[in-house]
Amino acid sequence: MPDRYLSFTRTAPGRFLTRRLGLPQPAALHRWSPDRPALDGPLLALTAGPSALDLAPVLVRTGPAVYPAAGAARPAAVVLDATGVRDVDTLAGVHAALHPVVRSVVPSGRIVVLGAPLDPADHHQSAAQQALEGFTRSLGKEIGGGRTVNLVRLTDAGAAESTLRFLLSPRSAYVSGQVIDVLAAAGPVPPADPGRPLAGRTALVTGAARGIGAAVAETLARDGARVVVLDVPQAAQDARRLADRLGGTALTLDITAADAGERIAAELPGGLDVLVHNAGVTRDRRLVNMPAERWSSVLDVNLASVLRTTDALLAEGTLRPGGRIVATASIAGLAGNAGQTNYGASKAGIVGLVRSLAPRALAEHGVTVNAVAPGFIETRMTAAVPLFIREAGRRMNSLAQGGLPVDVAETTAWLADPASGAVNGQVVRVCGQSLLGA
Ligand code: NAD
Repeated sequence: MPDRYLSFTRTAPGRFLTRRLGLPQPAALHRWSPDRPALDGPLLALTAGPSALDLAPVLVRTGPAVYPAAGAARPAAVVLDATGVRDVDTLAGVHAALHPVVRSVVPSGRIVVLGAPLDPADHHQSAAQQALEGFTRSLGKEIGGGRTVNLVRLTDAGAAESTLRFLLSPRSAYVSGQVIDVLAAAGPVPPADPGRPLAGRTALVTGAARGIGAAVAETLARDGARVVVLDVPQAAQDARRLADRLGGTALTLDITAADAGERIAAELPGGLDVLVHNAGVTRDRRLVNMPAERWSSVLDVNLASVLRTTDALLAEGTLRPGGRIVATASIAGLAGNAGQTNYGASKAGIVGLVRSLAPRALAEHGVTVNAVAPGFIETRMTAAVPLFIREAGRRMNSLAQGGLPVDVAETTAWLADPASGAVNGQVVRVCGQSLLGA
């Protein structure tokens, strides 16, 4: 279902009319493509307060050319190191650093604020560091022009390199207003070709015959992975076609089967590196009208099967050390949505699973567990949403447009990167900073 409003605002009369009426002006987002793989301009590195981070070498490797102070060129990215902000006085350094440059950031530019973990023994430091969250989210809502603003909490710049590379690139076009902790013990990062970080790795994506799952499979294959495209038998033809195109394999299997995990393990005797739980269904009804079958079918596909297959693949040792699990939540699971008590419950369950399992899976299996939480993404699932709710979903976010499956796929690829070992237990919204939820 094409976004006609978006197309209209790209025409001269459309631009004129929507400006005059004060209607949203969705910017053309700069997404990754082979022709335009990097941001259109240099990176400006700023500091607020004293910092112990060894950031410079990491920024040099992330892509855009770095320059240290406001110069002639308009920055395409600004990184503000605010890890040394410990009280309200040093917090003033955040205003002092960004106030003069924020207007000059190019359209579809990036602002990344770096913060420190909150210190439970110091309520002044905690207040000042928590303040960065409100600052980031507020700036994300006001900056406009397809620009994004995110906060990364870290202690080691090297461990955050893959995260900075993602946030400072066109791959993160629909990720804004997020707070990402990069604080897990990363372990050694194997040397990899940054152009094909998943080379030599095997990735399995559930529900990959179409929609977001198909985009995830394509993006992981672009990054070098051998992909297994899993979907229900009814989608076998699409799954096979995609697998053939990507040089991978198709696996037709209903993920709710009691032995799904064992069947995947049997299919992958050489092991698995990346497991993406993407398959999902909606069966919307308000609770008063919802039969038990609608409840249980959604909970079974979206949550119970994720728990079952995860447990089985970890227990069987199919997921190799250095492995990555990426599950799919939804902002409906974070904010709630009328008519979706079943879906919201299932997706909130994913958040609980991720937060609980992540530290243990890393300690016991060397596997990270994270989730993506898509907002309104243009797929067959959202094309079925009634017109007015669909329009609200598209417009009620800082970027004033729906995301594309590739936006979720790029976020998944960053979490699946072997260099993302310090990112664990995170729920990253891919929602253009939707107004729903935090
Ligand atoms: P979609 O309906 O287009 O695709 C879902 C795929 O999952 C289909 O190919 C389907 O055959 C497969 N599937 C369903 N049940 C299965 C089962 N039992 N076993 C194996 N495969 C099964 O959906 P989408 O929009 O691409 O959504 C993908 C994921 O993203 C879902 O988990 C969904 O809840 C989540 N999500 C989507 C949006 C959005 O805006 N589209 C927003 C938030 C979250």
